Amino acid sequence: MLIIDDHAVIRRTLSACLNGIGNFEVYEAGDGEDARQLIADRQFDIIFCDINMPNENGIDVLQYLAEQHFSGGVVLISSTDETLLKASSLLARQFNLAIIGVAEKPIQRHTVLSFLIKANQHLAPSEQQQLTPLSANAIAKAIDDANVIAFFQPQVCLKTQQLSGVEALARIENDNGEVFYPSQFIEIAEQSDPLMLALTKAVVTDALAKFAALLAVEPALTLSINISARVLIDQTFPHWLQAICHQYSVPPPRVICELTETALASHPSLLTASILRLRLFQFQLSIDDFGTGYASIEQLHSLPFQELKIDQRFVADCLTDLRSRVVVEQTIQLAKGFGMSVVAEGIESADVAGFLALKQCDIGQGYFYAKPMRYQQLIDAFGLNKVESP
Ligand code: C2E
Ligand code: MG
Ligand code: MG
Repeated sequence: MLIIDDHAVIRRTLSACLNGIGNFEVYEAGDGEDARQLIADRQFDIIFCDINMPNENGIDVLQYLAEQHFSGGVVLISSTDETLLKASSLLARQFNLAIIGVAEKPIQRHTVLSFLIKANQHLAPSEQQQLTPLSANAIAKAIDDANVIAFFQPQVCLKTQQLSGVEALARIENDNGEVFYPSQFIEIAEQSDPLMLALTKAVVTDALAKFAALLAVEPALTLSINISARVLIDQTFPHWLQAICHQYSVPPPRVICELTETALASHPSLLTASILRLRLFQFQLSIDDFGTGYASIEQLHSLPFQELKIDQRFVADCLTDLRSRVVVEQTIQLAKGFGMSVVAEGIESADVAGFLALKQCDIGQGYFYAKPMRYQQLIDAFGLNKVESP
C-alpha cells in the first residue's frame, strides 16, 4: 500500500490506522515525485492519493498511474471541497483507474475499512468481468442457432410492491448451457448494423413469445426492450416491431422501448422519425440510463417519452452521496413535471427502495428485488404458475 500526502501527520495517522486493521506493508510519499519512484520500483494493491499537494499534485499522480496502466485500487483523499474531489474521481475513471473510494480528511477508521473491503472485491473481480468477449462470428452463429435468449428482470411498483413489468435483457447460451452476458457481446455487435439488428430481433422475438404467455394471466404487465441507435436508425424497425407484436398478439401499449441517451445524441432526424413511428404505432418510449448521456431538456420537452429510467450509478449511492441524492430527487421532479413515469434502476437495498418510494418514484428495478432470470424462474418466483409455456 502507498500513501501519498504532503502532510506527514495525515500519512502517519492513515498508516497507523491501516496497521491497526491488518498486517500491511505501508509506504509513504510526500509528493508526486517521491511517489513515482516508489511506484516504479514496487507493486501496490492500493494507493491513497491526496489531490491537493504543492509539488506535483494528485492529478499528476493519476495521470502517471494511467500511463503505467496501474491496475490496483485508488483512494482519493482531500480536504478541498467535495466538487473537486468528485471531478477528480471522474477524471480517474476516464483514465481507466479503479477508484475504490473518495475520502475527506480527517479519514475515519471505518471509512478506511470500507475501502479495504471494496479493494478486495476489486482485486478478485466477479465472474462476469473475467469473461472474455465473443467474436462477431460467434455472435452471428448464436443468432443462427437460436441461442440468443431473453432473460427477464422484474420491475416492481414502489407503492404497492406488486410486479408491474419485466425488462428483457439479452443473453447468449451455447450448447453446453454456458451463458454469456451483454458485456461480452453488445459492444462487438454494435460495430455492425446488420449484426446488431439481427441480435435485437432475436432477443425481442424470444421475449415477445414468452411475454405473450405471461400477458394471458397478468394483462397489466409491461415488457421493456432495449433498442440501440444502430437499430433505431433502420427505418424498417418500427414496422417490424409492429408486425411481430401483432403476430404474438401483444398490444403495443404493453411494450416499452428503452432508448439510451447516447442513442438520442446521434443522427437526430432519422432517430426522431423512428421515435415518432414507434409512438404512432402506440409503443411506449423510455429513456434508459438517464443522467449519464446527452439527453437535453429540449429533447425531453419535445420528444414523446412516457418513461424515464434513472441510471443505477445515482441510485446506488443516493443515501450516502448528497450529489447523487440531488440528481435522483430532481430527476423525479423533472419527469413528473413532464407527466412521465419514473423507474429507478440498480436498487440493491430496502433503504434505497424506501427512500425512492418516499420521493414518489413509481417503479423500482434491481438486485434487491431480483436479478435478471430465465423465463421459467420468473414464473416460479412470482407464482405465475397458471401460465402455460409458450
Ligand atoms: P440496461 O438496459 O441499463 O439494463 C440494466 C442492467 O443493470 C442489466 O445488466 C442488469 O442486470 C443490471 N442490474 C439490474 N439491477 C442491478 C442492481 O441492482 N445492481 C447492479 N449492479 N446491476 C443491476 P445486463 O443484463 O448485463 O445488461 C447490460 C446492458 O446491456 C443493459 O443495460 C443494456 O444497455 C445492454 N443490453 C442488454 N440487452 C440488450 C438488448 O437486447 N439490446 C440492446 N441494445 N442492449 C442490451
Ligand atoms: Mg435497459
Ligand atoms: Mg439502464
